[in-house]
Amino acid sequence: MNKEVTIIGGGLAGCESAFFLAERGYRVRLYEMRPVRTTPAHESPFLGELVCSNSLKSTAEDTSSGLLKQEMKLIGSLILSTAEENSVPAGNALAVDRDAFARAVDSKIRNHPNITVVNGEVTDIPSDRPCIIASGPLTSDALAERIKARFGGGLYFFDAIAPVITFDSVDMEKAFFKSRWEKGDNDYLNLGMNQEEYELFYNELMASDKVEFEDFEKLNVYEGCMPIEEMAARGMKTLTYGPFRPVGLRHPVTMQKYAAVVQLRKEDKDGTAYNLVGCQTKMKIGEQKRVFRLIPGLENAEFLRYGSIHRNTYIHAPGVLKRTFQVIGDEQLYFAGQITGVEGYVESTASGLLAAYSIVNPGFEGFGEVTALGALARHVSGEVSENKKEYVPSNFHFGMLPPFEERIRDKKLKKARYAERALASLRTSLGI
Ligand SMILES: Cc1cc2nc3c(=O)[nH]c(=O)nc-3n(C[C@H](O)[C@H](O)[C@H](O)COP(=O)(O)OP(=O)(O)OC[C@H]3O[C@@H](n4cnc5c(N)ncnc54)[C@H](O)[C@@H]3O)c2cc1C
Repeated sequence: MNKEVTIIGGGLAGCESAFFLAERGYRVRLYEMRPVRTTPAHESPFLGELVCSNSLKSTAEDTSSGLLKQEMKLIGSLILSTAEENSVPAGNALAVDRDAFARAVDSKIRNHPNITVVNGEVTDIPSDRPCIIASGPLTSDALAERIKARFGGGLYFFDAIAPVITFDSVDMEKAFFKSRWEKGDNDYLNLGMNQEEYELFYNELMASDKVEFEDFEKLNVYEGCMPIEEMAARGMKTLTYGPFRPVGLRHPVTMQKYAAVVQLRKEDKDGTAYNLVGCQTKMKIGEQKRVFRLIPGLENAEFLRYGSIHRNTYIHAPGVLKRTFQVIGDEQLYFAGQITGVEGYVESTASGLLAAYSIVNPGFEGFGEVTALGALARHVSGEVSENKKEYVPSNFHFGMLPPFEERIRDKKLKKARYAERALASLRTSLGI
């Protein structure tokens, strides 16, 4: 067995993988281009820098992020333990002193006897194996080009993502299943608005508070994933001729016609989570809740993922990666982090942990589908999503887990049950 591993990228995923492997006797060569060359978002020379918010989200077990963290801690996570050591008070959330956190990660990695950090940009996929590519959403252009050349057109630049909500939180007295002109299966969930309701939504959307973003993020705003407010700024009718087009979508029972119809598309096989089609947005999170809840039927919408916008380099993982983050056909090559199409600090770290776990445990085929780690890996391999062609980055959410046979109405109880089931399954897999 080759106990030397090459890792590209000393961010969250790369550091998590490196430490996990080094602690198990592997000798790791970790390539990091900063500070020789930096990214548009990083500000320091430290490994493990958090590029934006200082929050690693909730620690409560009955939240999706809290469950994912609990699972990672069962396996052993450098990033989480370092975050805890450098935490700042933030209620139920794990928030850190960003500078102290990055310095601590940097020091633990650089001082590990089994890790050698090489400062410099990697411009091609190395031939060394095993190798983990964890170069992040801001992978340097040269390497991004090589990855694109190797994996066909599979490297995407994506600018905006739409929110995902729970099916249970949609008011089914108002929503209806229908496909446009009743062509095909009734896969879409539709929410109609009369003229007055649409005008209110439109005006509030236009007036809402948006996230300001840096110049580099203004690049490549594809028409297909244009933020809703950019489309709306072209005129009040742009949305009703575009994603909110009401034609062919009368209410199937009352036959009511609408001025605008918002369509929701299944995000997972079981239909527990729905994506607000065309609603990719750069509105601030509080504003997303306020404005989207103006849509009739979404008054109590529960958000599993908020819309967001930034430059994002990721491979079209379904068909390229296995659940173990190995490349299909080149199984000693791994991808980890946001470049695999997981979204968020904790998810990026989790994928680094999973890639390293796969190296240490040959024959590993992924954790159970009821676990957060298993579900995240299945998102990457394309086994969760209904829309493999439209693979978009996602954080872990409860909608990725298989539902219970019986319907549990109490939301808090349901989440607690998800967590209980997941942790029991993971403990069994780990033999603890
Ligand atoms: C602008 C922006 C803001 C974000 N804000 C948040 C947020 O607030 N909360 C959240 O949960 N998630 C956020 N994310 C998403 C994501 O969680 C982070 O990007 C996270 O850091 C991803 O972890 P990673 O390990 O995949 O990549 P990174 O942490 O970015 O690590 C990749 C590393 O690889 C290095 N690298 C790149 N190319 C090369 C190369 N060719 N050779 C050698 N080294 C290379 C980079 O310098 C970097 O250190 C944000 C993403 C972006 C782009």
